[in-house]
Amino acid sequence: MNKWVVCKQGKGYLFKDNVQEKFETNFGKDAVGLIKEERGEYFLVWLIGSDSHWIISRNEVKQIDVTKTGDKFDFKICNVCHCLKPTEKFDRNQNNLHGIIRRPTCQKCRTSIDKRAPKTKQAKQMEKQKPKKGEPFTCPICRKRSIVGVTAKIVADHDHHTGNIRDFICDSCNTGLGRFKNGENYLMNAINYIKDHDALD
Ligand SMILES: [Zn+2]
Ligand SMILES: [Zn+2]
Repeated sequence: MNKWVVCKQGKGYLFKDNVQEKFETNFGKDAVGLIKEERGEYFLVWLIGSDSHWIISRNEVKQIDVTKTGDKFDFKICNVCHCLKPTEKFDRNQNNLHGIIRRPTCQKCRTSIDKRAPKTKQAKQMEKQKPKKGEPFTCPICRKRSIVGVTAKIVADHDHHTGNIRDFICDSCNTGLGRFKNGENYLMNAINYIKDHDALD
C-alpha cells in the first residue's frame, strides 16, 4: 500500500542530492506526497506535484486515502499542483445524472493556465479573415471538409505565448491541441510513443 499523506503546514526542509537544506522552506499548503522513509521525528516525503523530496515533521503530516477524494467527497486533489483542496475550489464542469462533475484542476492553477497573451494587431487582422458561416472549409490539421457553422464549428487557433492567431481550425482539432497543452514536446512524445509501439508488432 502506498502511504499517501497531506502536508498540512506546507513547510519542511528540502532534500536534494541526499543533502538536507539547513533552513525550513514553504511549499504548497496541503501538498500531497508519499512517505519514502521514516526518520525519527520526521518523514522523508516525495511531493508529487513539484516532484521534490522534503524532510517534514511527523505532526505536520496526515495520512490520507486518496481513493476517498474527488467530486463525491469533501476534498479533491488538483491534477496540476496536487494539493488537497475543498471540492468547491474546483469549478463545475457540468451536471449529469450522477451528480456534479468538476474540473480536475483547481481554480488557482487554472488561472495560470488560462492566462494568455493579450490580443495582438495580428490577431485583430486575422479575425477579419475568419471563414464565414455557410462557407466550405478544410481543416489544415485533420483535413476534414465541413460547412462552417453548420457541420463543424471553426475556431481561431491562438499561439498562447504571443497572442497571435496561427490559423483557423476545426473545434475538434482545437480541443485536441489543448489536450496536448499546445506543447510541441507533448505532441512529439505522443508521436514517438505511437512509433515505438508500432515497431513492436
Ligand atoms: Zn492546483
Ligand atoms: Zn480539424
